[in-house]
Formats: sequence, structure tokens, C-alpha cells
Amino acid sequence: RLAENGGASLATPSTSPEAEWDDSIGYFVKKKLRVWCRPRNDQWELAKIKSTVGEAATVMLLDGSAVKVSTGDLLPANTEILDGVDDLIELGYLNEPSVLHNLQYRYARDVIYSKAGPVLLAINPFKDVQIFGSDFITAYREKILDNPHVSILTFGNYHKSQWCMLYLIFYLHPLLYSGESGSGKTETAKIAMQYLASVGGENCEMACKVIQSSCILEAFGNAKTSRNCNSSRFVGSIPSEFCAVQGKLIDIRYSAEGTICGACIQTISNFDIVQARVSQICRGERSYHIFYQICAGAPSALKDRLNLKMASEYKLLNQSGCLKINGADDSHNFKMLMEAFDILGIPREDQENVFELLAAILWLGNISFEAIDKRDALAQFVYESLFSWLVGEINRSLEGGKQHTERTISIIDMYGFESLQLAVSSHMTGSFLYFQKNSFQQFFINYADERLQQHFIRHLCKLEQEEYELDGIHWKKVDFEDNQECLDLFEKGSKSSTATDVTFTNKIKRHLSSNLRFSCERGVFRVRHYAGEVQYDATGFLERSSDTLHFNTIQLLSSSRKKLLNIFASGVMNPSQTTGLAASDSHEQSVGAKFKDQLFKLIHKLENSKPHFIRCIRPNTKQLPGMYEKDIVLEQLRCSGVMEIVQISKSRFPIRLTHQEFATRFGCLLSENIICMDPLSTSVAILQQCRVSPQTYQVGYTKLFFRVGQVEVLENLRQRV
Ligand code: ATP
Ligand code: MG
Repeated sequence: RLAENGGASLATPSTSPEAEWDDSIGYFVKKKLRVWCRPRNDQWELAKIKSTVGEAATVMLLDGSAVKVSTGDLLPANTEILDGVDDLIELGYLNEPSVLHNLQYRYARDVIYSKAGPVLLAINPFKDVQIFGSDFITAYREKILDNPHVSILTFGNYHKSQWCMLYLIFYLHPLLYSGESGSGKTETAKIAMQYLASVGGENCEMACKVIQSSCILEAFGNAKTSRNCNSSRFVGSIPSEFCAVQGKLIDIRYSAEGTICGACIQTISNFDIVQARVSQICRGERSYHIFYQICAGAPSALKDRLNLKMASEYKLLNQSGCLKINGADDSHNFKMLMEAFDILGIPREDQENVFELLAAILWLGNISFEAIDKRDALAQFVYESLFSWLVGEINRSLEGGKQHTERTISIIDMYGFESLQLAVSSHMTGSFLYFQKNSFQQFFINYADERLQQHFIRHLCKLEQEEYELDGIHWKKVDFEDNQECLDLFEKGSKSSTATDVTFTNKIKRHLSSNLRFSCERGVFRVRHYAGEVQYDATGFLERSSDTLHFNTIQLLSSSRKKLLNIFASGVMNPSQTTGLAASDSHEQSVGAKFKDQLFKLIHKLENSKPHFIRCIRPNTKQLPGMYEKDIVLEQLRCSGVMEIVQISKSRFPIRLTHQEFATRFGCLLSENIICMDPLSTSVAILQQCRVSPQTYQVGYTKLFFRVGQVEVLENLRQRV
């Protein structure tokens, strides 16, 4: 009779303490142990059982008050000694309140990183948390660089351990950051980059360039949205055939000596998904930071030359009623940007060209005439091209000579699940409400998110459980939600090569009327994604801005005396050049099919490389420090499958040897008078003779499965024979 929410949702292996909870309430009373109860509302609270009569229990809450609850509504809590453990799998009871409590306990002490088995959880602190210090870097460099595959150093104190936890060195393994918008993917990836730069920093100049590249990318690629004041909204910088999902991929390359010798950045977005942020901004949001930075911070000579005004004078910027971000200094950030340009060695002349184009875009937005769509498409095009060109320049600067190395760490900062709904925003005149509709862009982002979630679950849960089942070992299955139905939905829906809004919706409807995750009515359809239900508005779904960029416009650009505009225009006319524009054959292939193909390429890369998953968590919706909203955290833990992964990790048998391998390796431990015929019997005899605890292994049809540490014990015995 576990309480319904929280305990029962976690199917547990049969040996788990939860299974015995029913019988042990009496024991909890006797020993005055802690339990979880919900006396007042839906929030779980810690308490101690004072007495029980039948189904009723009297419990004492932390504030000393006594309340009556039903014993069926109680869940076991862990002892105080386990408060704040580093890895959730160390918890004796793995119910939801215990997991939430552990994370909150750490968060309240500014320990924002925790492990959930193989996954690193990072809870956004929304403030600076002191985890840096040269002593850590030195210690880490001394211990780890000799042995890059050692994953964790165990220091005794929280701050040190969180430092180490974050900075697992994963040579050759990508780090994949995921989480909702505003959960901290970009910041956490930046911290990892800073660390990697500091431990691999013998070549200081290169490490410094790698760090500074973020400053440029953020100025041009990030913007304030309703959920995040510094949201990554990159336009793509690489040609469409490489585009997989929206996000940013940074490969940091190491020399054989372990120092950073170069890097390569790809910002990935599908060009068919319009990123119209330059010309259209929702109320309360901003365009890309760089526009506000240049208006606020350009030195007066530059301002005069470009005739730059304040941001409020430009229609492209003032349309949303939001010009400033609390706590951000646009003028200062512009100076930092100029410094970053210098550090990366972008020539001053090119910098001037960039600033000219930015001013041109702003002025273009202020011109009014009958062809406004064309004007906006031109502004958008110039900005996208500028961004792609900049990324190319950054990469040239990070190339780092001819040093050849296979050692690369990829950092992948993906767009996370997105559902735009009613948003509340405040601006100078107070709060107001506005609606944003979910369109093709969200559909793509969420599909990519589903696909990665499937990879995550498959990688960490499904394959492992299948192996246990196939080998017939005793294992109580942990259920997790399979999202294949959702993927089918996208894949069936996007096959049409001549899709328009209407045919797309009709087709989706025809194929999917029986799909339980789908419902549709009058141009609006709903999809139940693993992370939540989203309502999409199919109106304007397949519109693409590249269609509106008229040939005349391209000719106009190519006739310009400005070198950069020429490069951009020739990129459209000759798509093989890498200015990052949609290739002309894109019409022949459906938008969805192409995107899917690209996504598979990325998944394939991940499948071959065993990525490390970092799940970022947004602890509150208000972007405030020190606020831990349990239901919001829980929702993210549930949606991402983290709870199931902890369950599996806790009871897994990670070391596997075939009967033959085990018998051959450890047969020498048998005393001579035992004669065994087959490898299985030999193996069992070894296990019995060495008195290996049955809790630590299982015998399968073909393999022996061991818990962590057990094989080392046998190995020690073997050394002594
Ligand atoms: P998006 O998907 O919108 O790009 P994101 O997951 O990349 O969102 P970030 O931009 O990394 O989110 O984080 C949002 C904000 O949260 C940051 O601007 C910063 O204020 C704060 N933040 C995130 N992580 C940290 C951290 N480790 N330390 C301090 N502040 C942080
Ligand atoms: Mg981001």
C-alpha cells in the first residue's frame, strides 16, 4: 500500500527497501524513523510516526505539530545520514519526495550538481556559485591528466566534489546538454569549456580564444525571450545538408600532450525553419543582443560614422516594448565583444564591416514602402549570412595549425522541448498577457527532442533491461515511457514532398487518427510529447522566408561595393559555397524528410560515441536564485526519465562475463578436489567456494552479472593464489 503518487510510479527491483515498507511501519514507529506524509496539501513533508491504530497514524511534523494521516499515505524517508548524497543511487529509498528532498538539500547549500547514476543533473542556481578556484584546477590537473579515464575524484567536501563531478574528463565522448529553455544548458556548457580550457591550457592563447568565442556567439546568437533573458536562438552557420537539430556543437581538440590545440564550432539550425527574430519580436522579448549592445556601447566615432541612434529609435527593436534586460549592461557587453574580436584576431577592417551591416539592418527596418515582406526578408537574410560568416571566421581563428589529433571532446548544447503558451510579461507600463502560437519551428524542435529522448532512454534503460531479460536473470522490470508513437507521428506526417499547410494537416490527420498521442480540429492539432502536450497551429506552418528572397534582391546585393554583401549574395547563387543558405534543391525534398535525415545523422554520431548526458533543471519559472519549486523540478525529472534511470542504475549489474570467461579467469581459485565439467558449473562452484554474497551477482543463461566492486574482490584473491 505505497502512497499512490510518488512511490508506486517507481517500479522497483524486488529486493528494494520500498517493497518491504508495508511490513516495516511498526519498525519506523519503534525506531522513531522519518517518513513522508502529505497532511496539509499536495506537498510532501518530513515527519515521525508517533503511533498507529489500524489504518490511522499520528505523525509529528518538523514544526512540532501532530496530525492524523492514513498509513497508506505514508512513504519511507531516508535517515539523516543520507541527506545530500552525491549520487541519488546512494539513497536507500528512492521515492519521489526523497529524491526531491536530496536535490533541494544540496541546492540550499549551493551544491548544484548531482549524479543520477550515469546522468549528471545540474540545477540552475540563477546566481554565481563558487566552484572555481585555482587549487581545484591544480589538484585536478595533477591527478586526472595522467589518467583521463578516471571519472571522479572523491574529495570530502561538497564544493570540491561538485567541482569534480562537473568536470569528469571524457576524452572522446561528447557531452550532451539537454533541458528546458532557461534551465542552464549554455551556462553549464560554458563552465565545462572554461574548465577544459584551464586544464588543457598550456597553450593559453588557444584556450583563451575558445572561451572568448562564446562571447561573440552569444552577442549575435542569443536574445531575451519570455522564459530566458539569454536564450540561445542561433541561426545556423553550416550548410543545410549538415543541419540536424537546432543547437550548438563545439568540438574541442586536444594535442597528444593533453593541451587544447584547436576547436570547431557549428551552430545548427534548419534553414527552412524561419528564424524571423530580426524582423519580428513578440511583446516583452528582444531581438539579438548585438543590436542593443552596439546602440548602447559603440564608441562615439563609430556612432557618428554609422549615424547610430538609441535602440528606441529603431522599429526593429522598439516593436516589442522591451529594450533592456534587468541586470545586463549592453554598453559594457559591447566593449567585451570588441575585446573578444581582437583576441580572436578578427581584423579591425572586418569588424568595421560587421558594425556597418548591423547599422544597415537597423536603418532598413525604419524604411516604410508597399513591399515590407521583402524588406524583412532582406534584413533577415543579411543577418543570417553575417552570422554564418562570423562563425566561419571564428573557426578559422580556432583552427590551430596543422597539429593532427584524434582527441576531441564535443559539447552539444541543444534546443530543448518548447511549448509556447500564454506568456506573462512586464514592461515599463506594467504586466500584460500575450499569446504565442506553436508552429513548425516548435514542431521540429520537439521532434528532435523526442528523438534524443528515445536515444537517452534506449541507451540507459532499454538495452540494459533487454540484456537482463534475454539472459533470464531475476529482475523486476522498471517501466519507462516509450515515445516511439510520437516519432511515428512525425515521420508519417512529414513524408509529403509537396506539402502545404492544408495538405500537411490533412495528411497528418489521415495517418494519425488512430494515434493516441494525436488529436486534431480545424487547423490546430495537439501532440502528447513525452515532456508534455503541445498545441500546434498549422496556419502558416510551411511558409519559408527563403522563398520570399527575390532574385532581384540577390542581384542588388551582389552589385554592392561591400565585399561581405557580395560574398553573401554569391552564396545564394552558388549554394555549394558555405554561406549557410538553403540549397536550391531544397524544394525537391520535403522539409520534414530532410530534417529527419539530418537528425538521424546526429543520432548516429551519438550512438557511435557513447555520449554523457547532462540534464539541466530549471528550479523555478521566475528565474530567481534560492527558489526551489518542488512541483516544477519533479515535472522535469519525470519528463526526462531520470527517475527510472536512477532506479535501474541502483540495481544494475554493470560487470558481465560469459560463463567461459569467468571459469577460465577464476578457475584457479577452486581447490583441486572439485572437478567440474562445464563452465557454468565451474563458475557456480567458484562463487560458492569464495563465498560471494548472492546479493552481488546473478547467474544468467550465458553470462554472470556482477554489481560494482565484486569482481575486484575475486581478482584480489586470484592475485594471492
Ligand atoms: P535556452 O534553451 O533558452 O538557450 P539554456 O538552457 O541555455 O536556455 P542558460 O542560458 O544557460 O539556459 O541559462 C539561463 C540563465 O540562468 C543564465 O542566463 C543565467 O542567468 C542562469 N544560469 C544558468 N546556469 C547558471 C550557473 N551555472 N550559474 C549561474 N547562473 C546560471
Ligand atoms: Mg542556451
